[in-house]
Amino acid sequence: MGVAPEDADRLAGILRDAGSVVVGAHVDPDGDAVGSTLGLCIALQRLGIAAVPVLAGQDHAPETYSFLPHSADYRRAGELETPDVFIALDTPSFARLGDAEALARGAAELVVIDHHPDNARFGTLCLLDAKASSVGAMLWELLPSLSITPTPELATCLYTALVTDTGRFSYSNTSPAAFRIAAEMVAAGVDVAQVFSAVYENRSAGALALIGRTLERVTPVDDGRIAFSWIDDDDYAQTGALKAEGENLIDEVRTLGGAQVVFLMKHTDGQVRVSLRAKAGADVGSVARSFGGGGHTAAAGFTFEGSPDELLDGLLQALRETLA
Ligand code: 5GP
Ligand code: MN
Repeated sequence: MGVAPEDADRLAGILRDAGSVVVGAHVDPDGDAVGSTLGLCIALQRLGIAAVPVLAGQDHAPETYSFLPHSADYRRAGELETPDVFIALDTPSFARLGDAEALARGAAELVVIDHHPDNARFGTLCLLDAKASSVGAMLWELLPSLSITPTPELATCLYTALVTDTGRFSYSNTSPAAFRIAAEMVAAGVDVAQVFSAVYENRSAGALALIGRTLERVTPVDDGRIAFSWIDDDDYAQTGALKAEGENLIDEVRTLGGAQVVFLMKHTDGQVRVSLRAKAGADVGSVARSFGGGGHTAAAGFTFEGSPDELLDGLLQALRETLA
């Protein structure tokens, strides 16, 4: 699919006229959110535009991504003036922008660049491609139409977005385009081994202990077609793991053979954050939406007000219906 040339031209026009630009992404930022926001800001700086990156609710990148160039440039949304242009990356709706929502609503132009299939098209210009592996890959493909030649720094940010959103080139979104774009990025100067080491070989002992707890609690149900696990605030306190180190725990749960759908419940302050993953066929995005969340067919999430015990039966029932 890709981004239509006329949309890329409109984006170039909006940027030409922009006095101030803020670039933001979704709450609970992942590698695509961080890599894309930093990569786009580096790209815009090459056009002479001093774009400011924001991450909902925080003024620094999660520790895992602090190796990325310019990761210290994030500013708190609440400190910023409403910009002429807000660019929302990897974000399907206003609500998912967290405390950057007001900046996005106030901006004269709101550009949405996203690959979520349930994107609410909430921008004045929406560049959407549900087939794209990552927003990092979408941005990479936009560079020529913005007359931007990639630097190693830019390529490293966008490659980190791509490698994390494809699960290191292994999820079903790992298309020929994902590999082609990755090859171009590596040719532009990405140090693949350095990114791997920084993202995947840099865990604290506390994070490993948290993984241990998550794995110990894996519970297969329905002959193992569904499996789940859970963690709560005590686990962070007792292991010493940081909240950000819980980001990819669901990837540990999904390694269980035979499970078609897996989920992880993170219980904190009367709320449960749920991550869902489908390994074959099932649409967990629709299940997440039925609980007020959203996401992709194979990777989705939602927040439930209550305890894991109150959620469990209803969630299992909804998952059984999608598998049936
Ligand atoms: P994760 O489980 O990694 O937090 O999220 C998986 C996918 O589902 C991501 O694409 C994320 O944007 C989406 N997602 C997670 N939680 C929510 C939510 O509460 N609302 C919506 N709309 N999407 C979510
Ligand atoms: Mn993404």
